[in-house]
Amino acid sequence: MKYSKTPYSSSKAAQKRRKCPKCGKYYLDYPALSRKDNKTKICPECGIREALNAFINNQL
Ligand SMILES: [Zn+2]
Repeated sequence: MKYSKTPYSSSKAAQKRRKCPKCGKYYLDYPALSRKDNKTKICPECGIREALNAFINNQL
């Protein structure tokens, strides 16, 4: 038996709902790119948090 790597492929509710790998929350908004590797899609909240952290780190 094949084991797919995508466990939840519910075709019925094909909403643009994404899960943030950072905080684990689901979000509907446009994703933000993580500043750590520039390819991980995170929720806008975490995107703002990362941007703020980067800003604060630059200030120190
Ligand atoms: Zn998040």
